[in-house]
Amino acid sequence: MLATILHAPGEVRCDEVAEPTILKPTDAIIRLSASCICGSDLWPYRGLNEVNGPRAMGHEYCGIVEEVGSAVTTVRPGQFVVGSFCLSDNTCPHCRFGFQSSCEQREFMTGAQAPLARVPLADGTLVATAALPSDDLIPSLLATSDVLGTGWFAADAAGVQEGSTAVVVGDGAVGLMGVLSAKQMGAERIIIMSRHKTRQDVALEFGATDIVSERGEDGVALIKKLTGGVGADSVLECVGTQESMMQALNCTRPGGKIGFVGVPHGVQFDGRDLFLQQKSLLGGPAPVRRYLPYLMDLVLDRTINPGKVFDLEVPLADVAEGYSAMDERRAIKTLLRV
Ligand SMILES: [Zn+2]
Repeated sequence: MLATILHAPGEVRCDEVAEPTILKPTDAIIRLSASCICGSDLWPYRGLNEVNGPRAMGHEYCGIVEEVGSAVTTVRPGQFVVGSFCLSDNTCPHCRFGFQSSCEQREFMTGAQAPLARVPLADGTLVATAALPSDDLIPSLLATSDVLGTGWFAADAAGVQEGSTAVVVGDGAVGLMGVLSAKQMGAERIIIMSRHKTRQDVALEFGATDIVSERGEDGVALIKKLTGGVGADSVLECVGTQESMMQALNCTRPGGKIGFVGVPHGVQFDGRDLFLQQKSLLGGPAPVRRYLPYLMDLVLDRTINPGKVFDLEVPLADVAEGYSAMDERRAIKTLLRV
């Protein structure tokens, strides 16, 4: 089969590889209904994460179970499933505490930008639907696997609730999903920091009430002004740079919460500054598995349409174009037809 391999920064293509097989009794093989490119795939693509030899790309997935290992009991061939990008047993103390992304057996999904993929820890990771979903729901179901689950975690970690004022730092796909999530959780005011017209429009469609295009201190000053000098109750940090993290910290009100889901690259805090700011910080890889059943239901009953975040669709064979479009910010998020 053809699968996406990153060979070196900027060098990604479809190569002929062997089809995946069951390696452990807890594995499942799924035939993907669609795949996609994640913002985090751009870190190694841009050479900001080290690339040590060819790497099978892709960790967002949904599809039909083809085969399961002998120990798998919760899913069976023929079912439609979605799984998290974090693979988890869903039974260890961290999983039971709702932090499946810190599972004692945690692995990270790879190789999902392909027609077939092996999913380790299938019982703890995959969630099946009652019936096969209609085709038009596939992009939104795919989104629950990571991008929506991550935006949802950002909003949840930031303590968004009915009537909250939320700020979303970052207008990438995760930031936009953060807007959708904050809206679902009942935020009254959702301010997105974005400088790009097309992304601002998507944010408004997902429920943003205000746009701040200034960055750094100017951006913080404007948010302070919009919140009566107080700052926001909840801030979703969806970028991962020093600048975005400081923006997030400085526009949160004392006692407020920051959910940070942008993978930090070179971010540093001053302990004393953090002490005096009196703000809660919770971040990391999202425990998507905790949210999956609920988010899949919201998609299946058409309450939300997170699939709108895909503004480019290419066949798997053209994966290189999918990456470069996202790298050059010509596309928010690329869906791959497998
Ligand atoms: Zn676990």
